[in-house]
Amino acid sequence: MHYREVEGTREFVCRLETGRDWRGEIERLADEEGIDAAFFFGLGAVMDAEVWFYDQDDKEYREVVFDEPLEVATSVGNVSMLDGERFAHTHAVLSRRSSQALAGHLNAGTVFAGEVYVRAFDTDLQREYDETTELDLWFEH
Ligand code: ZN
Repeated sequence: MHYREVEGTREFVCRLETGRDWRGEIERLADEEGIDAAFFFGLGAVMDAEVWFYDQDDKEYREVVFDEPLEVATSVGNVSMLDGERFAHTHAVLSRRSSQALAGHLNAGTVFAGEVYVRAFDTDLQREYDETTELDLWFEH
């Protein structure tokens, strides 16, 4: 396990803009406010979603696209630095009209409405390639 203590006093509540990308909106906040590390959670609804599943054997993401209105029952994630850019790693549990749940790594989703809380930390978090998982994970410097 890698860990370190972080401190943060900056908190934000955000109403995401209709028609924008869910993850992109969080990255936009991070860029505007100079947030290099954060955790967030939120809820709302999207008009579509691109959900990724990481195949642990093939070490590749599998993409599933849902072109339908979905509730964002919950979304959690964090902000860190990936290849010099702020990246909002975002997961979500989405639900259909029937309330059936879909879940995974939310790469993209067109916002219908969204409410997000962000807790920013006074540090940065760097992602680097990890040979074991073949994912970009947090590394200490
Ligand atoms: Zn993920």
